[in-house]
Amino acid sequence: MSTEEILCKQFGISETVYNYVTKIEKDLKENYFDKIEKIREANQYKVIYAMQEHKLDYTNFYWNTGYGYDDVGREKAEKIFASVFHTEDALVRPSIASGTHALYLTLSAILQYGDEAIAISGRPYDTLLTVLGEEGNEPCNLKEAGIIYKEIPLYNNDIDWESAIKAVTMKTKLLMIQRSTGYSFRPALTLEKIKNAIAKIREVYPNIYIMVDNCYGEFVDEIEPSDIGADVIVGSLIKNPGGGIALSGGYVAGKKAIIDRVANRLTAPGVGKEIGLTFGTTRNTLQGLFFAPHIVSEAVKGAMLFGGVFSSLGFEVTPALEEQRSDIVQAIKFNNKDMVVKICEAVQNASPVDAHVSPVPWDMPGYSNQVIMASGAFVSGSSIELSADAPMRPPYIAYIQGGLFYDHCKLGVMLSLEKMMEFGEVKNIISNL
Ligand SMILES: *Cc1c(COP(=O)(O)O)cnc(C)c1O
Repeated sequence: MSTEEILCKQFGISETVYNYVTKIEKDLKENYFDKIEKIREANQYKVIYAMQEHKLDYTNFYWNTGYGYDDVGREKAEKIFASVFHTEDALVRPSIASGTHALYLTLSAILQYGDEAIAISGRPYDTLLTVLGEEGNEPCNLKEAGIIYKEIPLYNNDIDWESAIKAVTMKTKLLMIQRSTGYSFRPALTLEKIKNAIAKIREVYPNIYIMVDNCYGEFVDEIEPSDIGADVIVGSLIKNPGGGIALSGGYVAGKKAIIDRVANRLTAPGVGKEIGLTFGTTRNTLQGLFFAPHIVSEAVKGAMLFGGVFSSLGFEVTPALEEQRSDIVQAIKFNNKDMVVKICEAVQNASPVDAHVSPVPWDMPGYSNQVIMASGAFVSGSSIELSADAPMRPPYIAYIQGGLFYDHCKLGVMLSLEKMMEFGEVKNIISNL
């Protein structure tokens, strides 16, 4: 069967939808995909070089039991991440349960009673608000630990470094920057913007700690925030840097003094990085890193197809096609609850796993609104695999990200459009192509 036949007979894609998506795709191939492939290539070589530099060998995938002392593979994995990010050191562990966990570890390791942290890229990601104690009243949040918190909103989608500098007090120890869109509606901060803000702040406060939440950002550009002055960057292995292969985990990469503190927070003072069993995950972690540049480029192309198709239908999308990308997220504003649910259903139906189930909004731990999440992933909850989620609040924005392979994203786009044909206004536009 030809592609068209499979799509039509097995997935129920109409010729109208197929032609519409193909037309948008042609424009993307002509105008945008080359640049993504160049970035992919640079990152792929960077990763291979780091593995060779540290003489990764097959015995590094063996694993120990108990405390996990002298785990050469674990140590090499951390050195390899540090090399890729050009940092002094890194902590890369399957026992870091999520991105939020990695961020909490980092914040609570750096900040002590009475210290202040300032978010200089506006309101942080939902789960971080719970961590900070800005929302909810969870035991062990940072407010309870005596940490003061402030935030500086973005100005014109850029870091307002002038206000950030003014906001610093004697108590300010750390500035935090979120690279990705998160659950806001703004393009991810480009590395150029982050670089400029860090440089301006460093002119006045050379020693202030700067942490970047790098979730969803890894390998979208040729450099990382750690290349342009961030002291520490933090992310999840079931997002970009795990390449869809890592089974779990998070990383923290940065200055050695910071990583030492984070390691002591993760395990215990005195043992730090020296212990922590990997349960045999080192091979997955590193093979995931090896895959990551390629997978991220596929996800970015997929995000662009979603963005291109939905902007052509008249929906507001961020980032816009011509904007420089700095994460894998494509946000689409629907202003319509039913449409958000339909998109999530379509993404679910496009999945290799759990395609037959329907996502429903639920009270996800750590989030203050109900969230609907579509993810038919091999690694549960992985959002480097094609996934869509939306907090159930106006203006009903769907966040689409991931896709290990562009073809899979394209199927998701086509199934989304089929469902969107139920809405008269969308049907008219597609049919009048
Ligand atoms: C995903 C994400 C987090 C939290 O990561 P989890 O692994 O879901 O806990 C934090 N910040 C940003 C910007 C994210 O995208």
